[in-house]
Amino acid sequence: MTVLVLGDQLTRTVGPLDRDGRVLMIEAHDFARRHPYHPHKLALVFAAMRRFRDRLRADGYTVDYRKFETFAEGLNAHFEAHPEDDITVVRPASHGGADRLRDLVTDAGGSLTVVEDERFLCSPAEFDEWAGDRDSLTHESFYRHMRRETGYLMDGDEPVGGEWNYDEQNRETPPEGYEPPEPPTFEYDEETREVIEWVESEFSGGYDDPPYGGDWADPDEFQWPVTREQALHALERFAESRLPEFGPYQDAMREGEWAMNHSLLSAPLNLGLLTPDEVVERVLDAYESRDVPLNSVEGYVRQVIGWREFLRHVYRREMPELATANQLGQTESLPEFYWTGETDMACLSDVIDGVRRRGYSHHIERLMILSNFALIYGVEPAELNRWFHAGYVDAFHWVTTPNVIEMGSFGAGVFATKPYASSANYVDKMSDYCSGCPYYKTKTTGEGACPFNTFYWDFLDRNEDELRSNHRMGLVYGHLDDKDDAEMEQIRERATELRERAERGDL
Ligand code: SF4
Repeated sequence: MTVLVLGDQLTRTVGPLDRDGRVLMIEAHDFARRHPYHPHKLALVFAAMRRFRDRLRADGYTVDYRKFETFAEGLNAHFEAHPEDDITVVRPASHGGADRLRDLVTDAGGSLTVVEDERFLCSPAEFDEWAGDRDSLTHESFYRHMRRETGYLMDGDEPVGGEWNYDEQNRETPPEGYEPPEPPTFEYDEETREVIEWVESEFSGGYDDPPYGGDWADPDEFQWPVTREQALHALERFAESRLPEFGPYQDAMREGEWAMNHSLLSAPLNLGLLTPDEVVERVLDAYESRDVPLNSVEGYVRQVIGWREFLRHVYRREMPELATANQLGQTESLPEFYWTGETDMACLSDVIDGVRRRGYSHHIERLMILSNFALIYGVEPAELNRWFHAGYVDAFHWVTTPNVIEMGSFGAGVFATKPYASSANYVDKMSDYCSGCPYYKTKTTGEGACPFNTFYWDFLDRNEDELRSNHRMGLVYGHLDDKDDAEMEQIRERATELRERAERGDL
């Protein structure tokens, strides 16, 4: 029997790997050419695969590591060496991935056994039983279910501290001059450094051309864990230094502070270098042994056992329709500056610069700057999803699709109860961007008015038929009603002008 290990399944902690059998890993390069990917993402996946191979071999596993242009070529080579082999694989996370793989294996003369992915804390059967015939799926209810099932942060049947959620305490902004702890850094072996350089030369033909628009990602800035040891080091650094202030500042944004107090563990988690239970248990250990504030611990636990698991099952259940869902009928193209970073808007410029440089921005920057602007501008959700998929080191289709299409774009109405649309007000409250921006955060129309303000009201106006009856939008439509016809006309004119400027690359 052979176990096929895919590039985002790099774990021995759980799963079917067996020293008595054979392990097959296929590095398929055309996969990396079919869509644009951040160079650091490709370097991360290929380097992590090769280091995982080395570790398995060092521990006595027989590993066939095959480098081919296509996955099919890799499988054909395997079956030439091992005719009619039965391959076992952990269910691929992408929609239809298992079926595509089965076709390839069958065509090559073998058979495929698919086993469920045990890295997640909630199995498909458990989620489906929880979902039952509920009219709507809400994260908060699922999260409480997961707290009870795992026993994490539970005191008998009650949540530790008496509350399920401490978000009220997690909306602070740091004082002026605040310096978050330094993100972890890693020493790389020679092969990993070669992979980083190789990705640059092998795949970066496209990085100077559209859609990237040149100058993406300096290979020297690559700083992500590529081994389990490095991932555990990153976890330690988070638990020791970043976790205590993660909670209060988790929604805060500071120019030039790309990491703030965030864990930076999404990429190693999504690759399998860490498992969610060990991450949560290390965080709970910090809570119990070092008195780390409960609001920080609960906020982080919710991201891992709540949102991460919830979105995975939303993706599983709602695909393929979710990928193209567009209930608001948004049709605008993504402004070119998402690729080039060339915009005068201080918030978007800084966040996009970070994505270009290192394939990362934290969750509020993703939701309230990047997705929010695309939403109120009117961008088609699937196009925004493609951008996130291309831009981030931790992006996988099962992760970005529910986050971007549903949460960021209010595309499907599966679990989001209202669009996450906001004006400059929110950006100004949670960041220091507006004070250094050439646009005026308090102006909605006229010269210099902040585009977030114009597009916010324009968005509400354009989508009135779909949104006014939403009971969670009553207040904002009340404010829209306070605007007279003349002001609404100015907003529409300014929105048209700003769209033309965005198309010219002059926003
Ligand atoms: S004024 Fe508007 S564009 Fe400028 S930083 Fe603030 S929200 Fe962003």
